[in-house]
Amino acid sequence: MVNASSASRPIVDNIAGATGPDLAAPVPDVATPLLAWFRQEARDLPWRRPGFPAWGTLVSEIMLQQTQVARVIPRLEAWLTRWPTPADLAAAPPADAVRAWDRLGYPRRALALHAAATAIASEHGNVVPRDVDALLALPGVGDYTARAVAVFAYGDRHPVVDVNVRRVLARSVLGQGEPGPAKAKQDLPLMESVLPADRDDAAATNAAVMELGALVCVARAPACYACPIADRCAWRAAGYPEHDGPRAPRQAKFTGSDRQVRGLIMAELRASDVPVARSEIEPVWADAEQRDRALASLLRDGLAVGDDASGYRLPEA
Ligand code: SF4
Repeated sequence: MVNASSASRPIVDNIAGATGPDLAAPVPDVATPLLAWFRQEARDLPWRRPGFPAWGTLVSEIMLQQTQVARVIPRLEAWLTRWPTPADLAAAPPADAVRAWDRLGYPRRALALHAAATAIASEHGNVVPRDVDALLALPGVGDYTARAVAVFAYGDRHPVVDVNVRRVLARSVLGQGEPGPAKAKQDLPLMESVLPADRDDAAATNAAVMELGALVCVARAPACYACPIADRCAWRAAGYPEHDGPRAPRQAKFTGSDRQVRGLIMAELRASDVPVARSEIEPVWADAEQRDRALASLLRDGLAVGDDASGYRLPEA
């Protein structure tokens, strides 16, 4: 249950080394109404179902970085059917992981997941670690993912902060329309300050704040009329002042970018069971300099191997 003492309490800074926001400012109780709303309105997503494995949580969290939920779900289900445990993935060649990643984007995540699976299988008895530091030591696992796995797979009590959480907290607690650039030393204590003491409620509150940011308190047109914390939202109460602080960096345009060219080359490599000649890659993009740069970066990242003599292919080992 939500701890009654969580109502309007001061921000508590219990993150090691953190220098959080104004520690003297009272924080409204957003957890109580958010939990009630979340229990009614939460989307039925695979990773929220009882019995969903910790391995599935790790895979889903890595897939969900930069990729929308609707695109992730079918890939996630196929992935877990094919590789139900980390050891199953570790036994497959990295090329299989890259192929199964298909068009989720940022395919380095597939290689990182394969490397993480190998470490879990060999160093953790095929069990996804629970400890945040042990999770952080896995390849490709950053602070957000480590906390998300500890909280959503194991129910531990940690603040979990993603872009949606930062936006909701900036608006509802700090009264700012935008969160500005990410700052873990401020963001984590702020999320900590709204978490109930109870472990299960704290885990659900993390998910509820994320859900509010994904469905209601969206970036461009927040649906304040449907918001369960509208009556205590500092930004709304202040009359929605314009944001005049630093802004979070915007994602670079995809069309015409090296990332687009990388994706086109990867599609060629994924589609072929044999090495692909440079001449077969040339038609995917007219600009030779950009094409060569994209291919070189794929080789550097280990997503492609080979050379002009032997052709190019996905990494087999
Ligand atoms: S009232 Fe509006 S701006 Fe405030 S948290 Fe809710 S949706 Fe976001």
